[in-house]
Amino acid sequence: MSNLKKIAILTSGGDAPGLNACIRAVVRTSIFHKLDVIGIHRGYEGMIDGDFFKMDATTVSNIIQRGGTILKSSRSERFKTPEGRELAYRQLKKEEIEAIILIGGDGSLAGSKAFTSTYNIPWIGIPKTIDNDIIGTDFTIGYDTATNTAMEAIDKIRDTAESHNRIYFVEVMGRDSGFIAYKTGISVGAEAIYIPETKTDLQRLFSIFEKGWNRKKNSLIVVVAEGNEVGGAFKISEKVKEKFPEYDMAVCILGHIQRGGSPSCSDRVLASKLGVSAINALLKGEKNIMIGEIKGDIIYTPLEKITKKHLEITPAMNELINVLSN
Ligand code: ADP
Repeated sequence: MSNLKKIAILTSGGDAPGLNACIRAVVRTSIFHKLDVIGIHRGYEGMIDGDFFKMDATTVSNIIQRGGTILKSSRSERFKTPEGRELAYRQLKKEEIEAIILIGGDGSLAGSKAFTSTYNIPWIGIPKTIDNDIIGTDFTIGYDTATNTAMEAIDKIRDTAESHNRIYFVEVMGRDSGFIAYKTGISVGAEAIYIPETKTDLQRLFSIFEKGWNRKKNSLIVVVAEGNEVGGAFKISEKVKEKFPEYDMAVCILGHIQRGGSPSCSDRVLASKLGVSAINALLKGEKNIMIGEIKGDIIYTPLEKITKKHLEITPAMNELINVLSN
């Protein structure tokens, strides 16, 4: 039996679709177990400023389908300092908060690690990022929606590419991970996918043109992750243009549309599952862990073990790209 009475929840770092579904799950599960829940506005900035409010079932009604975060989010330079974290600790103590649920990316989870290495407030992290680049879970909240958004956008670009016999270089998010580019690229039948984890083989693309590309196909889509080693979509397009100036080429940067919008069914279910599991973990006496889901099972990973995850391209995945884009 847990003695826990009062917990707080915050969202931190870049927003991602599914945050509201997760907030809702945490609040409703807390109410079910008769815990008081305090919402912290504006991530770590709000924690330092004591920007707290009491949450109940009405504060989370009709939000499961909404993008963004009703709690707001922020990036906080102050929380990166020991002084900032001490201020945050004092605010939590003043409000008699006994445990924290943080929904955040790898940066926010690094902040959680820094805080819990000094202060003894049980802390559960829930992974969100459209990039899917956190270990300890198969998928992070927001990734599925972001890939669907990018896929739908590129399908539209394909119509224009096809109508004008044009080559499109489409840049998707992923500063140092290729999850979005890879999954989206496969889903739109991209002729080439360039990601940060692998060498950029432009020769493969060149050979498509050398074989007389426009006699076979009317459009060509190259998906580039923003953090690709040669550079983003503009850089790659310049290199191709230098060699094949005769082709009509265009660049499209999808940018922040990948972060917003109503979460997909998979993201809503994942967010709900992780939210419920976070409260269950606290009630079991767990602390300073991140909750994830691997092969359908809820997995606890200690905060100090959390690092970035990178996409590993297996021979089977390579085959998908090479065979299907031929
Ligand atoms: P995300 O959580 O989406 O990866 P950021 O990388 O911007 O987003 O991190 C969000 C916030 O987490 C930062 O603005 C900062 O307040 C906090 N943070 C990140 N790294 C650390 C760290 N090493 N120590 C303390 N706080 C950190």
